[in-house]
Amino acid sequence: MKLTVVGCSGSFPSAESACSSYLLEADGFRLLLDMGNGALGELQRHCGLYDLDAIFLSHLHADHCIDMCAYFVARYYRHDGGRCDPIPVYGPEGTEHRLTTAYADTPTASSMSEVFDFHTVKPSTFEIGPFTVHTERVAHPVEAYGIRVEHGGRSLTYSGDTGVSAHLDELARDTDLFLCEAAFTHGKENIPDLHLNGREAGETATRAGARRLVLTHIPPWTDPQVNLADARAAFDGPVELAAPRVTYEI
Ligand SMILES: [Zn+2]
Ligand SMILES: [Zn+2]
Repeated sequence: MKLTVVGCSGSFPSAESACSSYLLEADGFRLLLDMGNGALGELQRHCGLYDLDAIFLSHLHADHCIDMCAYFVARYYRHDGGRCDPIPVYGPEGTEHRLTTAYADTPTASSMSEVFDFHTVKPSTFEIGPFTVHTERVAHPVEAYGIRVEHGGRSLTYSGDTGVSAHLDELARDTDLFLCEAAFTHGKENIPDLHLNGREAGETATRAGARRLVLTHIPPWTDPQVNLADARAAFDGPVELAAPRVTYEI
């Protein structure tokens, strides 16, 4: 699998990065994990506008899904006058309604579903193209999912947004690459069931036996080096900060 960080800024975009969005490729299939603010522009550095095969939305906070409204425009009102066939979009209950409402400019109630084939995510195991995916509820104020994606005996686990979560520990069990949020800073912000801090991300990776930890979703007002040091103190394996346009072979 090849993972490309399209955007990794937490909660709102930074000058350097769009919000959460990660492109995962294998066997010529392109799965996008989240499409937060600014992601659609960045995505076009990495593949054609219409080259995605499926989209997974971890939850419906704007920093993970709002560019789906822009992507709807690109697929529905194509420059050549055509309309894109629907691609699968996996998201929590109510995804279609939320995106339709966010788009707002009175499209017909069904117009989103003309270009997106919505599937409701529950905690389960299913196939997306060549990938086997496992989804679990994680600890966040809204219905939110972590996802483990497997292909060819390798695995990626993406936390989405979460506080400390036993479900996340299980999803990340022995995973090859653990893409884990670390939005909070240890000793500074402490709101249960919202976000992890660097230390908690490292502790989660240790409990899970993850092989490699990549910290993401760090907001522009947070010093990433503090979270990186905290994670390294709690996890013996390799730890690094996600950065836009970086790729990983998994
Ligand atoms: Zn977020
Ligand atoms: Zn969130």
